[in-house]
Amino acid sequence: MSGFFSEKLRGLKPYVPGEQPKDGNCIKLNTNENPYYTSGRAAAAADSRMLTSLRKYNDPENSLLVGEIASYYSVKNENVIVTNGSDEVLAFCFAAFGGKGAVFPDVTYGFYKVFASLFGVDYTEIPLDKEFKIDAEPYKKCRRAVFIANPNAQTGIYMPPEEIESIVSSDPDRVVVVDEAYIDFGGESVIGMTAEYKNLVIVRTFSKSRSLAGARVGFAVADAALIKDLKRVKYSFNPYNVNSVSEVLAAEALKDNEYFEKCRGLICASREKLVRELKKLGFEVLPSLANFVLAKSAKTDGGELYERLKKNGILVRHFADEERIKQYIRITVGTDGQIDALIAELKHITGAI
Ligand code: PMP
Repeated sequence: MSGFFSEKLRGLKPYVPGEQPKDGNCIKLNTNENPYYTSGRAAAAADSRMLTSLRKYNDPENSLLVGEIASYYSVKNENVIVTNGSDEVLAFCFAAFGGKGAVFPDVTYGFYKVFASLFGVDYTEIPLDKEFKIDAEPYKKCRRAVFIANPNAQTGIYMPPEEIESIVSSDPDRVVVVDEAYIDFGGESVIGMTAEYKNLVIVRTFSKSRSLAGARVGFAVADAALIKDLKRVKYSFNPYNVNSVSEVLAAEALKDNEYFEKCRGLICASREKLVRELKKLGFEVLPSLANFVLAKSAKTDGGELYERLKKNGILVRHFADEERIKQYIRITVGTDGQIDALIAELKHITGAI
């Protein structure tokens, strides 16, 4: 840290993203990307004509994509904001709604804490229960802005809509942000609830189920007044936050429903296979409705599993600094072929063969 770094930010512990190795040969199951290509229809739309028009600034309102999202989810344009990945809209939510503090689970997406620190938002972490589930009760009593990932990050455990609603309806004067980054892999979205609840923000991403992590597109759906608040933050930071190429890619990916359904069907089936195979090897696997699973071996420590898999060209995620889950590894659901390779390696490591 240089002597110039702001005094206020000296305690900041930045988010550490999963590794993005240069070596294209490894089996990459560490950052919950989609193992299938971006929709061909989307890729074709971002053609050379589009690239030669980059001399102009893009539409700061991203009206094309906002319109597609609004019609896909049956909401109005005024209920949607698009952002540079969902990380950006999450950051905007902390800046806009964290005035009275924030609350989120002790095991969840690691960026919540970082955003809170960056924007000076006082935060409380509420422990997940013994089975790693989110207990709705303490959130109902809390007057701070609530951030919940559903399915939850790192665990993959899903919270049913009635429980989300019980939190949202318990206090109309505080905002509840539901981060549905992984909802397309088996859960039911509560986007529809934004019509009724004026304190609910749903955050979504094109990075996972739409195979567009590198394009950096996310969005939020909420009551028009909340979207206006988020836009106040956006226009105070970076009005041209979603570039025109990514906007077209995302708009076309949303229209390619056939490909989307095919890929998510494959991923959900592969998840079941992964869970089955891990259990055969004696792993404890948390029940996941996401495109990843959190699993623990009865024989081998999480850190050792991570290192030995890495040595053999398979990357998974290990959270060494997170006390409650450091015995576990988080495995992204890849293709069936990738899962076979992972399981074969795990058999060696855990001594099953
Ligand atoms: N929310 C959750 C729960 C995540 O796991 C991630 C991805 N790491 C994000 C949001 C951010 O995704 P993106 O910025 O790529 O949209």
